[in-house]
Amino acid sequence: MITLTFHGGARTVTGSKHLLQCGGESLLVDCGMFQGLKELRVKNWEPTPFSAAGLNGVVLTHCHIDHCGVLPRLVRLGFAKSVFCTPPTAEILPIVLADTAKLQMEDAAYFNKTGLTRHAPALPLFDQGDVQATVKQLSPVDYGRPFKVGRRFTVRFLDAGHILGSAMAEVTVDDDGRSVKVLFSGDLGRFDAPMTPDPDPPPQCDYLVIESTYGNRLHTNASPHDELAETVRSVVEKRGVLLIPAFAVGRSQQILFILKELQNAGRIPSLPIHLDSPMAFDTTAIYLRYLSGRQVRMDLLKGGGSIAGPNVQLHKSQRDSGRLSKLKGPAILIASSGMMSGGRVLSHAQNLLPLSSTVVAFSGFQAEGTRGRRLVDGERTVRIRGAEVQVRAEVVDLAGFSGHADFQELLSWTAGIKEPLKTAFVVHGESSAAEEFGQKLRSQRGWQVVVPSMHQSVEL
Ligand SMILES: [Zn+2]
Ligand SMILES: [Zn+2]
Repeated sequence: MITLTFHGGARTVTGSKHLLQCGGESLLVDCGMFQGLKELRVKNWEPTPFSAAGLNGVVLTHCHIDHCGVLPRLVRLGFAKSVFCTPPTAEILPIVLADTAKLQMEDAAYFNKTGLTRHAPALPLFDQGDVQATVKQLSPVDYGRPFKVGRRFTVRFLDAGHILGSAMAEVTVDDDGRSVKVLFSGDLGRFDAPMTPDPDPPPQCDYLVIESTYGNRLHTNASPHDELAETVRSVVEKRGVLLIPAFAVGRSQQILFILKELQNAGRIPSLPIHLDSPMAFDTTAIYLRYLSGRQVRMDLLKGGGSIAGPNVQLHKSQRDSGRLSKLKGPAILIASSGMMSGGRVLSHAQNLLPLSSTVVAFSGFQAEGTRGRRLVDGERTVRIRGAEVQVRAEVVDLAGFSGHADFQELLSWTAGIKEPLKTAFVVHGESSAAEEFGQKLRSQRGWQVVVPSMHQSVEL
């Protein structure tokens, strides 16, 4: 008997954790952190509903926090086997997890100092020691090369085209002679996008676990270049600061690159650009190394071999970051996290949101309950570190930058599955997006579709 249980990413975009079990063996696909709504965030603290020590292995689709963010906690809870991922993910993951642990420690210290917590003392979910232990368990495997997890699971990574190193995971389960293929789409990227290859076509499978972030939305045709150029010009006119909260992995590099192209084409003036993210700083080098050898729709090595233009200043230390509080416009400031749920962008938001000369530009999906979502929805006050902050800044949503396929792109991708599928499970979407996308799969593909709820188990 094979069971599949959805311990996260079910009717939410965060906390992805899918557990496959067969004949006493178990495999976890992704170990993401819950973000946004408080009722989800508290789940990060709950004991795992399965034995961490009993897992035969973990497979990671990519290194965004909502897929890998609580892996060190799993290790702390006794998981000691291998974590399989692609080679770029294995290089970026230590940087992402160390940064997450650092933010966890800083938040705990802050809450203990200010007393703004009901927990005494406030503790981090995990620390740098847990991260170091986790990194030792990483086992990189190239795309397309099958590998075994336990005796029953054979896994193969395919390119999901979402960020560098992102993968779909094809898992073949050996149920005492019966072979069942489950395809996990991971986060699916877009076709013809700058800096990422197109997603690989799906292999034939018995079951599909598919994301639905934009399951009920179509992206506009706006090019990221046009949107960003217009936003930069508006902030230059106001002589303000353009604050771009951006995921440190993937999105920051893409924005820097497009800014450089716009500047070279004379579409925006050359103004000071500050990248305030040690994590983006460290991952940029990894990006350059991998992308230079790949067929992507951009020649990074053209024009000096750098993602960023000469007017970009990188800020690594906390002291450098602090100096940016006096930043005068016109200027561009890029900092993580992308949904304003933590990180250095918070202090900049505290300083800049009350100013009418500021433009805040979001460049990715904003999950329910995050500050990013509140701002995009037009709220005029947000709470940051216990303080109410008035929003006089202009808030824009750069929809052209999305790293996720919209429902039309998702549907066309699924057309590659020709054999009859037993069931499609729609995950990684808020309830309305997942339900609507499930309905589309039923009507257009004729598939049996399940939109699982949190902790729901199904037999395959
Ligand atoms: Zn992602
Ligand atoms: Zn995701």
